[in-house]
Amino acid sequence: MVALSLYFIQSLSIVLSDAESGCGIGAGYKGTFSNITISNHSDVTANSGKYAAAIGSGDENVNGSGTITITDSVVKATAGTDAAAIGTGNECDSACDAINITNSTVTANGGRYAAGIGGGDAVSDGTINITNSTITEAKSETDGAGIGGGESGNGGTINITGSTVTAHGGGYAAGIGGGEDAGVQKVHIDYTSKAVAYAGGDGNSVAIGHGDYNKTAAAFSGNYPSNGTLKLSPQHHIVEAGSGPGSTSTYTRDNIWNACRNNKYAYIHPCEHVSTYYKADNSGHHQLCCAYCGEEIGKSEYHIWGSDNKCTICGAEAVPLELSLVERNNNGEVVKNFSIMKYSLWVAPYPENIPEGMVFRYWKSGNFRYYPGVDYRVFEGGTYTAVYSPGVDTYYIDENGEYQSVRALRKTSS
Ligand SMILES: [Zn+2]
Ligand SMILES: [Zn+2]
Repeated sequence: MVALSLYFIQSLSIVLSDAESGCGIGAGYKGTFSNITISNHSDVTANSGKYAAAIGSGDENVNGSGTITITDSVVKATAGTDAAAIGTGNECDSACDAINITNSTVTANGGRYAAGIGGGDAVSDGTINITNSTITEAKSETDGAGIGGGESGNGGTINITGSTVTAHGGGYAAGIGGGEDAGVQKVHIDYTSKAVAYAGGDGNSVAIGHGDYNKTAAAFSGNYPSNGTLKLSPQHHIVEAGSGPGSTSTYTRDNIWNACRNNKYAYIHPCEHVSTYYKADNSGHHQLCCAYCGEEIGKSEYHIWGSDNKCTICGAEAVPLELSLVERNNNGEVVKNFSIMKYSLWVAPYPENIPEGMVFRYWKSGNFRYYPGVDYRVFEGGTYTAVYSPGVDTYYIDENGEYQSVRALRKTSS
């Protein structure tokens, strides 16, 4: 018998159980479903009998499986043997079209040889989207992935966005990815998500990626399932990986992917910037940066110079200024060339070198202007050219009330 069914559960608090071989929610033996929707603040506990998913398809379904949608709800699903808690039952012909979990809290205990969320025994996983949700636990009893494929089933496409996920693979299976002897197509964990993944305790299964197989024997040549695509954010993710939660190393940037694929346990989380350092640039600034992910934190700030010519914050050193100073006259001709001398840039050119009728304005080097009276530190020697403007004779009144003549800059349009 093939039953084609639509299930909608809304605003319900309900416990559904089938002790024999039917689903908690879904189809019975060889039965299929087209859609299961749990939404609108439902609180659902679903338990299934042997070979059937708690939420999903029944045993040996041969007509495909539809889409499971869980939105704004709390779900606890526990499968009988050989079936996924949420997904497919035992030896179904195909994965669910999709499993979409959004704004929900889910616990999924898969049975023997089956995933917590994904494929039943000998079934691959299709597409699983976990969005803004908490997967308290997705677990296989043995040899299925926590999230992904059942035994010998590939993990399909798993997208985890804005969520916190804990996944336990069983036996020879990955935490997130392939069941025993199987790989995974794609796992994408966005940089706002946290994921804890435990591979099963046996064989070469990994936290995220493949179930057990001999990695050294043509592991990636086609005879064995591939590791698939694991997408993490190297700018934002930190991976703490190892044999278990108590024995991890911290991996950053280019090492985060292999950390997930070479260890039994991986905790992936956004970088909390717990270790920082100051990065100096060559234009007189420093910037607080994360030592793990490299993110620039806060604003770029000016160095604060100590008497030893080092920044008291970041330790950057100013290079002693040795420069070749060229003075030119009004016509741009070199009138004096002080080669490799030490100068303080806030000092104007010697008075005798100031062209007749002109007033010194600033030193120019490349595109930078260095004004008198300002303390600049420079990091490389260079050619500093004095720039003048036409002056006017004027006066000021000193502290004794006396008129003092002075040559000052004339306001010009240039
Ligand atoms: Zn960081
Ligand atoms: Zn500094």
